[in-house]
Amino acid sequence: MENKEFKGHVIVVPYPSQGHINPLLQFAKRLASKGVKATLATTRYTVGSICAPHICVEAISDGFDEGGYSQAGNVEFYLKSFREQGSRTLTQLIRKFKHTGTPVTCVVYDSFLPWALDVAKQQGIHGGSFFTNSAAVCSIFSRIHHGRLALPLTPETTPLMLPGLPPLNFRDLPTFLRFPDSYPAYLAMKLSQFTTLNQVDWVFANTFEDLEREEAKGVSELWRAKMIGPMVPSAYLDERIKGDRGYGSSLWKPLSEECMEWLETKPSKSVVYISFGSMVSLTEEEMEEIAGGLKESELHYLWIVRSSEQKKLPKWFLDLDKEKGMVVTWCNQLEMLSHPAVGCFVTHCGWNSTLEGLSLGVPMIGVPKWADQLTDAKFVEDIWGIGVRAKEDEEGVVRREELVKCLDEVMQGERSREMKRNANKWKEIAKKAISERGSSDECINEFVQQLTAIAQQIN
Ligand code: UDP
Repeated sequence: MENKEFKGHVIVVPYPSQGHINPLLQFAKRLASKGVKATLATTRYTVGSICAPHICVEAISDGFDEGGYSQAGNVEFYLKSFREQGSRTLTQLIRKFKHTGTPVTCVVYDSFLPWALDVAKQQGIHGGSFFTNSAAVCSIFSRIHHGRLALPLTPETTPLMLPGLPPLNFRDLPTFLRFPDSYPAYLAMKLSQFTTLNQVDWVFANTFEDLEREEAKGVSELWRAKMIGPMVPSAYLDERIKGDRGYGSSLWKPLSEECMEWLETKPSKSVVYISFGSMVSLTEEEMEEIAGGLKESELHYLWIVRSSEQKKLPKWFLDLDKEKGMVVTWCNQLEMLSHPAVGCFVTHCGWNSTLEGLSLGVPMIGVPKWADQLTDAKFVEDIWGIGVRAKEDEEGVVRREELVKCLDEVMQGERSREMKRNANKWKEIAKKAISERGSSDECINEFVQQLTAIAQQIN
């Protein structure tokens, strides 16, 4: 092979859920925009959801080609099958490119899938692990993995004081740590992210220097990551990737046009956009409280309720005036958040949603439900000052009065103005990080240079 232009070929392998495909696909697009050949390898069940120019898309298998995770029905079973079938089919994919002009030089894998590094090493190529959560969260889990922090964490052992992190109360901790028996397989997976880091060539994190400098520094002896975020489509930040307005992956059909038409009829900053992401499932009671809060607030709302969740919506709510609010099953969230009519984002604080709200300068109300969302909500409220976290009652439910109170705080008054100022400030900082010569851009450039050197050695 003699190709002086070859800067390397990276296969990017996400865990196949929306919140993982999005940032890894975005990273693939960034690499492609810098001349690297980028292939996204995702499961047969999700491969049809990808549509991204300049990215080659290939299928691997998790063993559940017709229904993915739901077909498996059980986390342990699913992860085991993905490890076995994924290793086999990823190996085949790497081999397929072996004698072409663009052999695979590196696998960038979701840190949830450490087996992908074994595949890369067996094939004699490099590997990079990509973390899709915050540096603060990585700091906590990596310490547990290395035996520097013992479980269980209890209200008595908190606030948790770790280098680079603010004191974390029990309510701010990831649920897998508050209740280690609640999802043992997920907890094991979260800890397994750190098992391969002594053999890996690069570690990437979807965060950025100005956002989490101290948090990353506090854990740098255990977790040395290149901070390359925010992995949000370029149109909302640096605008250097032409036409990059969406992630290019949608596991559900987005009804964005209807939403945009409706938003067009609403005054500036008057609409509350509500979404709990792709995984959270609310109880009927929680739905009823949110619906009640929205009605009482008398604000306009656009609420995303996935079709599997719709049956839990109260009937009286669906009969309300359609001019006042809209409920849809899925949309392109970024288009909604960037619309001038949207004034507030009620979010579960998944890490992508958090970064999106921050990058687009939209003040947030955090209603975290599980996993790392609780920690993200803490940072939104207390560290970055771009929102509030709604308080749950003793049953763990955010009541309508609390939601109304939060909406008042975020949509009007002095505190609201301060949150908006902070949100706008963070929007600019996020943009700077990924723009030319920004900290994240420099980290990506460094990676591309290293890849190019490797590629030219093969030549
Ligand atoms: N999202 C979307 N449309 C929706 C709701 C969510 O495109 O109607 C996207 C959102 O932009 C984000 C992802 O789905 O990129 C959800 O990821 P996050 O980490 O916020 O939460 P998760 O779904 O993993 O809990």
